[in-house]
Amino acid sequence: MTNKLIIFDFDGTLADTLDTLLKITNRLALEFGYVPATQEEFALIKNLSSREIIKQSGISIFKLPFLLRRVEKELKREVKNINLISGIKEALIELQNQGNQLGIVTSNSEENARLILQQHEMQELFDFIYSGTTLFGKHRIINKLLRQRNLQNNEVIYVGDETRDIESAQKSEIKIVSVSWGFNTPEILASYNPDFLIHHPRELIEIIANLQGLGEVPRV
Ligand SMILES: [Mg+2]
Repeated sequence: MTNKLIIFDFDGTLADTLDTLLKITNRLALEFGYVPATQEEFALIKNLSSREIIKQSGISIFKLPFLLRRVEKELKREVKNINLISGIKEALIELQNQGNQLGIVTSNSEENARLILQQHEMQELFDFIYSGTTLFGKHRIINKLLRQRNLQNNEVIYVGDETRDIESAQKSEIKIVSVSWGFNTPEILASYNPDFLIHHPRELIEIIANLQGLGEVPRV
């Protein structure tokens, strides 16, 4: 059996931050020059890719990094209100018990991710948290990880809730499990051709177990 390194996206995949993030981005709308979204519009946005959302929001691409930093700062004040995705903790414990390594690659801040994990007594489950500052650069972080840890592409699996997670995994040529409980709808996720599309955290366990059986290079 070959154990895997399973890399998770954070927001929407492990932590239920979406409503809080919507509230924060709406609060900052006037200041950053875009129109706040209603709940109904938010439901429609979930059918768009990350690039389309940014385009439609009308926010200047130059203001985007400042907005992201500001959102992180505001989120830090609200970490106490953030819940985990239901069933995710149990699935992660099981995956770790099976000998897999778990890590996080997030465009949120490392500090926010740590604070939220600590609150739910989950920080021990992860070997690392890598935080990237760009919205579309996760494949670079993943590639760096593969090099640093001397891993083959088939030893790493990425789990994420957005279309841009699928794009990153495909660029890094690693398998991607898309989850339907996060930001994007299953329909748009499916149109990006993820390797797997799941609707409950427990489905992860079977997928990883099946992948472990596929004769990869054994690790000592
Ligand atoms: Mg996400």
